[in-house]
Amino acid sequence: MKVLVINCGSSSLKYQLFDMNNEEVLSKGLVERIGIEGSRINHYKTGMDKIVIERDIPDHTAGIKLVLDALLHPEHGSLKSLNELSAIGHRVVHAGEKFAFSVKLTEEVINALRECVPLAPLHNPANIMGIEAVTKALPDIPQVGVFDTAFHQTMPKHAYIYGIPYEYYEKHGIRRYGFHGTSHFYVANRAAEILGKPVESLKIVTCHLGNGSSITAVKEGKSVDTTMGFTPLPGVLMGTRCGDIDPAIIPFLAKAEGKDVSEIDNILNKKSGIQGISGVSSDMRDIEEAMDKGNERAKLAYEVLAYGIRKQIGTYAAAMGGIDALVFTAGIGENDFGLRAHICAGLEFMGISVDPGKNDNMRGKEKIISQDGAKVAVMVVPTNEELVIARDTKRLYS
Ligand code: AMP
Repeated sequence: MKVLVINCGSSSLKYQLFDMNNEEVLSKGLVERIGIEGSRINHYKTGMDKIVIERDIPDHTAGIKLVLDALLHPEHGSLKSLNELSAIGHRVVHAGEKFAFSVKLTEEVINALRECVPLAPLHNPANIMGIEAVTKALPDIPQVGVFDTAFHQTMPKHAYIYGIPYEYYEKHGIRRYGFHGTSHFYVANRAAEILGKPVESLKIVTCHLGNGSSITAVKEGKSVDTTMGFTPLPGVLMGTRCGDIDPAIIPFLAKAEGKDVSEIDNILNKKSGIQGISGVSSDMRDIEEAMDKGNERAKLAYEVLAYGIRKQIGTYAAAMGGIDALVFTAGIGENDFGLRAHICAGLEFMGISVDPGKNDNMRGKEKIISQDGAKVAVMVVPTNEELVIARDTKRLYS
């Protein structure tokens, strides 16, 4: 059974073709700069060199057509005919409170996702464009939606209601939703498998630390709290996003700087975080290089990030009444071994203790990095959201 996974952004489209008989990736790639000059597709067939095709790609429909052509390419493709495709799985960012699980995409479901556009104005329209483009190109192939918010729908009400008048939750759906759910689900379950224990028996804190970062408390396999909220802006410090701040800063800044709300929103999303504090970059590799050269603001950004994550791990241990495993994933979580050690330093009182001999740079590798016999298993688990989407798509269509 072959399943195509699609993750559509406003000007990009990532894809992976899986053979779900053995969960092997046959081909993958990225369509870039859709609707912008210089558009192209980077296509990789497993075991072969990348090919780049530069082509005018005015919209997502043209992007999907190019992906299908690449998959059918006599040399670099992995399909002889599109009839080999059994189903297509889409990443969709926001399903509000409508879907707590992945679902088959019907007209009714797509309309429900359209109703969620005000909750994710940057992401859902692109995700829906991808679904529509596939429907146009392959009207007879079933499609499945897998939602970033779905895993967090198990949060108890006391974890997701904000301290503002309750009518705003009822009228506008203002509550904590959480994001990166597919990633948190994958790494928590994979960590339990590696430990050889049922996920239902564990209290796990999962740290997805990338350009966007979020931390989740996973108790007995369910998300019970997470740091992102109504939007992906709050929580720990991110590349350019501010994370948790005092909301009164917004009207104060608007007045002090003579800016309107959308300008402040832009500052908090695109000019804050590690970039905003350091003034150097949003990328941790640049921050660490600047720190080595003695840059004090880079050091400060690093410290604010590490302190915020450390504090959150303690918060979630308290929320769950303990912690059995601490999992790091995504670009920073998987690669930045120095930061991992720094985050965990001082948490020995909770049974968290990293072994410097095991905590090295090991991109793409699963590893337990805690000291032998430590109470809490500290782990690195590379995330694989595409595999979760492919598995859910297979499950719903088998
Ligand atoms: P992601 O959003 O998961 O792709 O993560 C991207 C981020 O991971 C980049 O912006 C970097 O800050 C970070 N990153 C990637 N590789 C490294 C590395 N070797 N050391 C530190 N940070 C890294």
